[in-house]
Amino acid sequence: MADENGECIEINGVRAAFHRFNTIVVGSGAAGLNAADFLRRGGMESLCVVTEGVKLGTSRNTGSDKQTYYKLTLCGAEGDSVRQMAKAVFDGGAVDGDTALAEAALSARCFFRLAELGVPFPHNSYGEYVGYKTDHDPLRRGTSAGPLTSRYMQERLLEEVRGRGIAIFDRMQAVELLVGDVSGDGRALGVLALDLDRLGDRDRRYAVFAAANVILATGGEAGMYETSVYPPAQTGSTGLAFRAGARGKNLTESQFGVASVKFRWNLSGTYQQSLPRYVSRAPDGGDEREFLDRHFSDAAGMLTAIFLKGYQWPFDPRRTESPGSSLIDILVYNEIVCRGRRVFLDYSRNPSRLESGGKADFSRLEPEAAEYLANSGALLARPIDRLEHMNPAAIDLFSRHGIDLRREELEIAVSAQHNNGGLAGDGWWRSNIANLYPVGEVNGSHGVYRPGGSALNAGQVGGVRAGQYILRHSRDESPPTRESLLALAGKRLSAAMAFGEEALERDGRPLDLAAERKAIGGRMSRHAAHIRSAEGVREALAEAKAQLDRIEGGVKISDPNQLRALHQLRDLAVCHYVYLFAVGDYIARGGGSRGSYLVRDPAGRRPAPDLPDMFIHRLDDGRLAGMIQEVAYADGRCEASWRRVRPLPPDDAWFETIWREHAAGRVFG
Ligand SMILES: Cc1cc2nc3c(=O)[nH]c(=O)nc-3n(C[C@H](O)[C@H](O)[C@H](O)COP(=O)(O)OP(=O)(O)OC[C@H]3O[C@@H](n4cnc5c(N)ncnc54)[C@H](O)[C@@H]3O)c2cc1C
Repeated sequence: MADENGECIEINGVRAAFHRFNTIVVGSGAAGLNAADFLRRGGMESLCVVTEGVKLGTSRNTGSDKQTYYKLTLCGAEGDSVRQMAKAVFDGGAVDGDTALAEAALSARCFFRLAELGVPFPHNSYGEYVGYKTDHDPLRRGTSAGPLTSRYMQERLLEEVRGRGIAIFDRMQAVELLVGDVSGDGRALGVLALDLDRLGDRDRRYAVFAAANVILATGGEAGMYETSVYPPAQTGSTGLAFRAGARGKNLTESQFGVASVKFRWNLSGTYQQSLPRYVSRAPDGGDEREFLDRHFSDAAGMLTAIFLKGYQWPFDPRRTESPGSSLIDILVYNEIVCRGRRVFLDYSRNPSRLESGGKADFSRLEPEAAEYLANSGALLARPIDRLEHMNPAAIDLFSRHGIDLRREELEIAVSAQHNNGGLAGDGWWRSNIANLYPVGEVNGSHGVYRPGGSALNAGQVGGVRAGQYILRHSRDESPPTRESLLALAGKRLSAAMAFGEEALERDGRPLDLAAERKAIGGRMSRHAAHIRSAEGVREALAEAKAQLDRIEGGVKISDPNQLRALHQLRDLAVCHYVYLFAVGDYIARGGGSRGSYLVRDPAGRRPAPDLPDMFIHRLDDGRLAGMIQEVAYADGRCEASWRRVRPLPPDDAWFETIWREHAAGRVFG
């Protein structure tokens, strides 16, 4: 199928560039690029990537102390198997068995592809790719190419996609997912995009991409949170999919943890194992206090909790009772949100409780922490000395961003980091909308708990699964022509354009886009992050609906350069409304604290004696772990439904049978 670049389409008197491809991939993170690479290798010619920026997104712009990729064990003598790995993923709760099995089965294949492309995953002199234990997993399935694993993945895949001549439409922001609005034809037909380099020209600022298949790889809905460790370069577009009728799944499940604020970075691993001093200060920077001490009955408990935070990074309500490591997240939040103070990590001095006679006294640690530091040769005087010894790159990283950990305290907050939920997909990463495949973080394939590193693996596997399905079932399907697109999705197209064009023409006071966005972020961080309550969510939901109605009801912008922010705002408004609805519905069903959030329950337990009532909560009893919540959005209303998880498929690996099935192409759905 040839791309008919250069053509135009006219909608309500506004011209737009018109492109046709069998498959378009929206988003150029590690997940989207891998999907494009896989399809081209499979022989798909009519293919393009549409992205708001090849250098944007989480994969390209984030990392952590040791950014982890999760895969089948490929080293050592410990036994591992696809089924064991699938079970570890499935046991996270609220996980579908078919996606868990595919993630396990394809993990080695996807990992080797990345290694072949040059992602520097370490192996020994015999070629064993060494691994380590990651959270929520018993074996050594984690591996890492260092703090920037996802960046290397994105860079190598981008080179590959470019090298294979796949068209990349850069600086194109999808603002509408085109879905048939004629009854009986609700399949995905392409996207309407804003050309970010031509916003000032009414007849050149839009581009329509007609497609037989849409792979949506737009990442997590990072822009929804004010307190966030997602890179500022990622906003997310899940709202776009909700508006088109895609269903959400496990939207209640996200991860939160301690991160630096000025330069957004996860403070896991050695940033905690080096035992920094946690201090709180008044807003003006004065009145310094070590605030953890009084909530831990002894020094060993407190210091070991800091140490453990290194590999128990995401907030976990099961670890909130003293001396659990997640009590620290609660105490940090309490200082910042309840007491209006600021919190910092100080690497230049030891926590007072570690010192005796003015020196670090490591006998005050529990054996686990003391042995680790001793084995690492890091029984050194100050946190900065220990950090420098164990991980000098950790210090360099901050200095490259203008923060000298030797001299400066690091401001922190408990921040949103990852969405385990997202759009609902089946075992082939197909959404409920025909021909729409959400892959990467936008796909909610994870459950309540997930092994560290499984996000990057699931993103790669999703692209392969969607690609395999497309190559088998719709590689020769023609994308809609101009005429058929107008006939099938004309109303949607013109409404989407009118939303922006009318905002430009309308009289009145222009919308304060930054303030609107801040309202969404503040609401989500206050009510739908790691501390939640039924009352708070109810109130937030009403506010969210009012804001959404106002934005959709007709607002004014003064400059075409604001079109991008306006469309993003609308999608964020829809998205946060849907997420808040999901959280409210979960609590109304009796769901308690689980995953990475706490749900207030006056009949529950207070994590530590002096903490305010808002932290009293009850751990979930697991009654919903076998269930998945899905939420649909239409006409400004949400509807939730619950279903049982799809079980792990039975083991049918009898070679001769599968050989026949494979040869007949029957294994591709
Ligand atoms: C601090 C931090 C640490 C992490 N550590 C780990 C870890 O150790 N292990 C792990 O497995 N995971 C980790 N994650 C999660 C993981 O990095 C992400 O889930 C993953 O990189 C997401 O990849 P993606 O390709 O789905 O999305 P992204 O990389 O976010 O890419 C999304 C793409 O879509 C584009 N886009 C968005 N909207 C539009 C639109 N409307 N039109 C056009 N283009 C659009 C964006 O510009 C971008 O190109 C971490 C995340 C963070 C924030």
